[in-house]
Amino acid sequence: MDTTNRRKFLINAGRAACGLALGGIAFRVVSSNLNEDTAGPLTRHAWQIDPLKCKACDKCKTMCVRTPSAVKAVNDQKKCSFCVVCYGHITNKHIASEKIMTEGKRVCPMDAVIRIDYSGRPDGYFIYEIDDDKCDGCGKCVEYCTKRGTKSMFLIIRPDLCLNCNSCNIAISCPEKAVDKVFIGSEDEFKGIWELEKDDPSIKNFNYSGRKEQG
Ligand code: SF4
Ligand code: SF4
Ligand code: SF4
Repeated sequence: MDTTNRRKFLINAGRAACGLALGGIAFRVVSSNLNEDTAGPLTRHAWQIDPLKCKACDKCKTMCVRTPSAVKAVNDQKKCSFCVVCYGHITNKHIASEKIMTEGKRVCPMDAVIRIDYSGRPDGYFIYEIDDDKCDGCGKCVEYCTKRGTKSMFLIIRPDLCLNCNSCNIAISCPEKAVDKVFIGSEDEFKGIWELEKDDPSIKNFNYSGRKEQG
């Protein structure tokens, strides 16, 4: 995608993100790998999860009509504390930093929480991201991060994966009534792969070399 198109998409996506504000939290959108094959149907509305109501049960994984589910976990880097030990990553929090990757007991059954060394020191800063390809939306990392961490992890229904069913099976099943249909903007604004913002100046210098798309 050339620069002009990318900027146009980000502006459009930004507008759409405002429409995804539920419970006072707006999902910011960043990256724009448009994919005609996986993008959802054109629509002015999308099903979305209110993170303030969601209790991270496993219904988002099992009740979506898609397998794997259209629901994925995300980690909001603006709220994350970049801890040496992440509550959404491992449960044995007293382990030495250098042993975490080999001996840390993973919260995620799919081992989808990625730990990236940012500072180059074992007691420094670590970025935590979710591997979309592995995540099945079970909500375990969200549950632990919400109970013991900074509540930076939460679940979203990915618009590019969601079939935008007339009646969302998760919304019907959700015990917290946390899923609702929200306005996201005009038809040409609703496409693409959605992620949390990575272009923010406060996180601009972070080393994303561990990201899979960069090899
Ligand atoms: S079904 Fe409702 S409470 Fe359970 S994970 Fe999904 S949105 Fe959260
Ligand atoms: S714990 Fe569940 S929701 Fe969190 S990254 Fe792993 S599969 Fe996804
Ligand atoms: S609208 Fe359909 S595809 Fe989308 S999250 Fe709900 S059940 Fe899954």
